[in-house]
Formats: sequence, C-alpha cells, structure tokens
Amino acid sequence: MKAILFDLDETLISHHEQLCSFIEYQYSHNTDLQEIDFNEWKEKFIELDENGYVIKELVYRTIISHFNLNSEIYDSLIEEFYSKFHMFVKPFKGSLELLQYLKQSQLKLGIVTNGGTEIQSKKIQQLNLHEYVDVILISEQENCEKPEPKIFNKALYLLDCEPEESYFVGDNIINDILGAKNVGMHTIFIENKHSFNKNDMEIYPDYSVKSLEELTDVLRNNLNNFTFKF
Ligand SMILES: [Mg+2]
Repeated sequence: MKAILFDLDETLISHHEQLCSFIEYQYSHNTDLQEIDFNEWKEKFIELDENGYVIKELVYRTIISHFNLNSEIYDSLIEEFYSKFHMFVKPFKGSLELLQYLKQSQLKLGIVTNGGTEIQSKKIQQLNLHEYVDVILISEQENCEKPEPKIFNKALYLLDCEPEESYFVGDNIINDILGAKNVGMHTIFIENKHSFNKNDMEIYPDYSVKSLEELTDVLRNNLNNFTFKF
C-alpha cells in the first residue's frame, strides 16, 4: 500500500452532526424561523437535505414554501449557510489522529470529495486537513465528479501511484466504492447510519467497516503490503 484516498462527508467528518448544529444555530437567532416549531423545522431540513446530496438553494426554497414563510428571508438564510456552515464541522472521533498516523507512516494521502468548491474548501481549512494530505480534489473545481474515473485517475497521477497500490475509503457505495473499483483501486466501505448503500446493486468493497477504529485495524494490517516495482 502506497496511498490512501478519502471521501470527506460521512467518512472523515459527520455531515449529519454538522448540519444539526448549524440548523440549531440558525434557528436560535432568527425570529422569522421561530414562528415554526424547532423540531418540525429541523426534521424537514434534514429530510430535504438528503444527507447533503441536495444543493442548499433547493433545500431553502422548498422549506420556505413548505412552511409558508416570507420568501424574502431566503437570501439571508442561504448567505448565512455559505458563510457559517463550515464553523460547525465535526470530524468523526479519531479521524484526525488516523490521518496523523498514516502521514507518519509515510503514506501518500488525499481527499476526493463531491461538492461545491467554496463550501468543501472551507470545511477542509477549518480542520487544517491540508496539513495531513498531499492532494485535495473537489468535484466542482475539477469539473468532474465521483464515480467518474477521471477524478480518481487525476488524484493517483498527482500522487504518482498506481491504482493497485492504493485504497479508497468512502461511505457511498456508488460514488466512492464503484468509482474507485472501476479504476482498479482497493476499496473500504464506511458503513454508518448515513452511508449511501443501495443494496440492490451488486457492488462489493474489499472491506466494510463500521467505525474508524475498525478502519484503523484494516489499514494497519495492510500497511506492510507494499508493491515493489522494478
Ligand atoms: Mg461521503
């Protein structure tokens, strides 16, 4: 093993916890929202967000009309989302320690994430993730998104690695696991309650783990499997 690439949301950080904290913050100081019951607002927001896969412009437009709120509040809510959401970023327990350990083990590390350049960059900066990893690719910036092979191949090229020397770790069975398998990488599926796993698709990762502790064990066991090329 020479390199490990990670997905970001629901792999290294908890999008769900981040979103819950932000929703609470936004509701707490916005009197227009307080006409609605907090739990109803939060539940609807989480439902519309679909674990982060729906753009927030659509989430806010839909929720404002759902609760019959004045559409004039849209601009300030979305502006606040873009300027403050990253401040609520929540790494999973042990995730920064794991990156530190892998970096010290001389592995090349990268992050390949689907999403908007501004919002994903701010989360990455907030946690100083660029200090741990060698490559960061964000789909909007790359004009190409997982599971397309191009974004995986670019990361491998930048790390000067062959696919068979590398692992991809992610929580989306299609974008992360199928995408990485298609270019020949080894794959580790993170199975948490917000993972995207379509059971009817026969996609099998090399490993499936339920926690970062389990992930650390799998990576430790594979650390010595270097591929030597002459
Ligand atoms: Mg993810």
